[in-house]
Amino acid sequence: MTQLTLFADIILPIAAPIAYTYRVPLMLNDFVCIGKRVVVQFGKHKIYTGIILKIHTNPPKTGDAKYILSVTDDLPLVTEANLKFWQWISDYYLCTLGEVMSAALPSSLKLTSETKIVLNKYADQQDVVNLDDKEYLIWEGLSIKGELSIKNVADILGIINPMPYIKKLIEKNIINTVENIIDNYKPKTETIVELTEKYKSDQTLLKDLFENLEKKAPKQLSLIMNIIYNENRNKVSGNNINLQQLLKDSNSNQTALNTLKKKGIVETKIINVSRINQKDEKYKQIDFTLSEIQNTAYNQINEKFKEKDVVLLHGITGSGKTEIYIKLIEDTIKQNKQVLYLLPEIALTSQIIIRLKKYFGNDIGVYHSKFNENERLEIWHSVVNKENTKNAHFKFNKIILGARSAIFLPFDNLGLIIVDEEHDPSYKQNNPAPRYNARDTAIYLAKLYTAKTLLGSATPSIETYYNAKANKYAIVELSKRYNDVKLPEILIADIKEETESGTMKSHFTFKLFHHIQKALKAKEQIILFQNRRGYAPKLECDICNWVLHCRQCDVIMTYHKNTNQFKCHYCGYVTSPPLKCPECTSVELKLKGFGTEKLEDEMPTFFPEAKIGRMDLDSTRSKNSYHKILSDFDEKKIDILIGTQMISKGLDFDNVSLVGVLNADSMLAFPDFRANERSFQLITQVTGRSGRTKRGISIIQTKSPNNQIIQQIIKNDYINFYNNEILKRETYNYPPFYRLINITFKHKDINKLHKAASYLADNLKDALGNKRILGPEIPIISKINNEYIKCILVKIDKDISITKTKQLIVNYINNTLTINDYKPLRIFIDVDPY
Ligand SMILES: [Zn+2]
Ligand SMILES: [Zn+2]
Repeated sequence: MTQLTLFADIILPIAAPIAYTYRVPLMLNDFVCIGKRVVVQFGKHKIYTGIILKIHTNPPKTGDAKYILSVTDDLPLVTEANLKFWQWISDYYLCTLGEVMSAALPSSLKLTSETKIVLNKYADQQDVVNLDDKEYLIWEGLSIKGELSIKNVADILGIINPMPYIKKLIEKNIINTVENIIDNYKPKTETIVELTEKYKSDQTLLKDLFENLEKKAPKQLSLIMNIIYNENRNKVSGNNINLQQLLKDSNSNQTALNTLKKKGIVETKIINVSRINQKDEKYKQIDFTLSEIQNTAYNQINEKFKEKDVVLLHGITGSGKTEIYIKLIEDTIKQNKQVLYLLPEIALTSQIIIRLKKYFGNDIGVYHSKFNENERLEIWHSVVNKENTKNAHFKFNKIILGARSAIFLPFDNLGLIIVDEEHDPSYKQNNPAPRYNARDTAIYLAKLYTAKTLLGSATPSIETYYNAKANKYAIVELSKRYNDVKLPEILIADIKEETESGTMKSHFTFKLFHHIQKALKAKEQIILFQNRRGYAPKLECDICNWVLHCRQCDVIMTYHKNTNQFKCHYCGYVTSPPLKCPECTSVELKLKGFGTEKLEDEMPTFFPEAKIGRMDLDSTRSKNSYHKILSDFDEKKIDILIGTQMISKGLDFDNVSLVGVLNADSMLAFPDFRANERSFQLITQVTGRSGRTKRGISIIQTKSPNNQIIQQIIKNDYINFYNNEILKRETYNYPPFYRLINITFKHKDINKLHKAASYLADNLKDALGNKRILGPEIPIISKINNEYIKCILVKIDKDISITKTKQLIVNYINNTLTINDYKPLRIFIDVDPY
């Protein structure tokens, strides 16, 4: 029997506009299948991991097809539903399938010859002993060189395609890809210490022991105290303390431990700390019943899901949306379906993780870009069909909690997607492509699985509320706080008035200052919100008004006191404080404005007794620092927490009675059609952190107390806010009435940039009409990293086809890039750029 000659179209993780056709070697005919990964050569020297999009018998029209080098997977890595989803993202957001693949797959699933690998220092020595010849050669090479590219490995082994060996070594946890070396790698197992059952259950025995050890063996006592302390903590945090940490924390040693073990007081256990395999029955300890109001909302949601695929749950801050989510999740997994619970930024919501883990225990997997590769890989494998998880230690996961990239996981049987805080801007990926909005793509994803989508927010985005009003989505309102606690009383502190009357203390109005003192006295906690990080946002010359700018960007540099340096928040460039003004040589250089770091710095002068914490991008760089600040605040080791918008997201602390917004005006003044919406959302969310168990106070400092938005915030008047805003959107042709597409040009040569942008704008104006094209314009930030920037904004009304218009834009851009002079330009398309 003659075998068919097969060809396969392969998606490669690059921005190439098309899938490339490769020839399937006859011996691999039975192994190829849509959704499996293959290794192929691309260009002269490179090899890539790609995904099979299509299998057919048509040779490429031009040239010979190269052969596929190997098939990586036994079973498809992505499903046909995934590929359909990718295609939709590619069509909607005008990017290539390769770019979607790049965003979708954890990086060790898309190796190329440039991928760098290193040894995993936590590798199990036993696994290293059992390597085969080729694997050993790779291990040896890495031991000597430290780091190798996959191309290097190919040279060492003398073969073109070393991917199968690399794959095995990654699966064995012996090597890692370099871009994924993130701090806090969690090894697979850990040793922990616990009290033996005898001492756990008998309090008198324990008490006698304490008295006994107090005099004779303080090191042993300290060890036991720490074990008990940790056990209580674990119930809340779910984090086990390992042996080394325990010995360090208790200032004890191995000898003391061995003695206690011999006496039968403690025992050591080796536990699996794999993120998704935690045993932890102890999570299953909260139970609750919904309040009457919550229950009504829950029933309404179920009713409305019968008619509509998308329901908006509009519930004020503190109304207890999470409990309703939990019930809906429970219902869904009972039907043996999966749930995707999206959160704006998972690191920012560890409280929610803890709450859900308490309820669902091991059924929950968490997926986030801050996690390292092994953790991400585990989750990836944990959501696909059970039969697909041939590797025994990959468990099947029913509930995934994730930030936006979790929409790319290869779900088997999705039943419900919850998009919590659906209005949050961090659902939008700005860079690189695909520039998608996870909320909007989630709605399409749910459709693919005939699943339901629940959008939740206290301050819904204008588009979502419009869709609900237009009956595209159903809406359920939850307008009372849990336990009937009242929303905080919101007070205005007039900065202008207090400046005139001389009652300001640095950045604090007397009103805010007074309430901080009051709260401190009552032993209540305080959150202060200032939406600027760093110490001072600018350095200005008092004589000539010169301002320090980044030399690579059109951006004012921010002063960071802890490093005594100015930093550009766009390109990361840092510089030391200049001694004199470069324009007029004056030494009268002054720091202007204030950021979170300065607030933190000044606090001890005004509130010497208070313990201060700060939460912003600078103080939370590593994965656990965020968690640490929160648990310190939770345990009342911090009285006043200062933060940027990070503190607005879903934090729930019982003891916070005061929230202060230091400067509301800077947000409202932002030149963007969404400035009002963002300010309303952000300030409402921040002030909503106050008074979760009894009524609290929030104070907004502003120079314009009569501003309409501020007045609407005080009255918690979302409806009025929405009505005003939607009218403006309609009048000025903005979403949801018009679609926006932003086209950005970048290049070092400003003349070429001008010419190319004008050329494209003229073409688009001819094709679509003048009124639909704005620009080319120079954006607020006109230069980043020495590249100049220009933008064209396309406004698409309902009279013309969106699909045709998008195609036309792509064609004109491609046409522009064929002109020799414009070829080196970088052009980016952003659909729904907000
Ligand atoms: Zn000057
Ligand atoms: Zn810069």
